[in-house]
Amino acid sequence: MTISLPIDVETVKGFLDPAEGAALYEAALEVSPLGPVLEIGSYCGKSTVWIGAACQKNGTVLFALDHHRGSEENQAGWEHHDGELYDSETGMLNTLPLFRRTLRMAKLEDTVVPLVAPSTVVSRGWATPLSMVFIDGGHAMEHALNDYRLWAPRVLPGGLLAIHDVFPNPEDGGRPPYEIYKMALASQLFEEVKAVKSLRLLRRLGQVPV
Ligand code: MG
Repeated sequence: MTISLPIDVETVKGFLDPAEGAALYEAALEVSPLGPVLEIGSYCGKSTVWIGAACQKNGTVLFALDHHRGSEENQAGWEHHDGELYDSETGMLNTLPLFRRTLRMAKLEDTVVPLVAPSTVVSRGWATPLSMVFIDGGHAMEHALNDYRLWAPRVLPGGLLAIHDVFPNPEDGGRPPYEIYKMALASQLFEEVKAVKSLRLLRRLGQVPV
């Protein structure tokens, strides 16, 4: 599939491989007619561009959830810190200005709804079933588990659960995304349909709503 995006997505800061981005695009293109998509962990909007472009094509909506203060591993002194995103007032990152810039440049403001809050807070007021959930938020066990437990059950039958940074070999990266991936498979609610680098796509089993 040839995918044409409105901006050069490689100019957007982030940690998503283009092959993973293309897989997310294809996944969202396939399932988003069923309902809105939610991504958890937008950062500066790299995955948002891939998924949002597919949702835009289908005339549906992408909810892009992020508190925009960076994950633990993005903070000063950690491996994935980016000094350009540091906000001295909070002592944490502030990725919201760049994220909004990405949406504007990519012409996705008619499709992407930013949710600027922790996923646990958004979850408390959420009732909409989702065609796809992409989990790429905080990689500490507490956050990965919360994202899985609160959001995976909201994926519609026939829809997709996508998890980033799944590393079966501990030497390649942290465990929590791999652990929730294993939990999803063990739940028997999901079956794996695709693996691209560290991205895993799992289909929600059950009767597809008409
Ligand atoms: Mg990631």
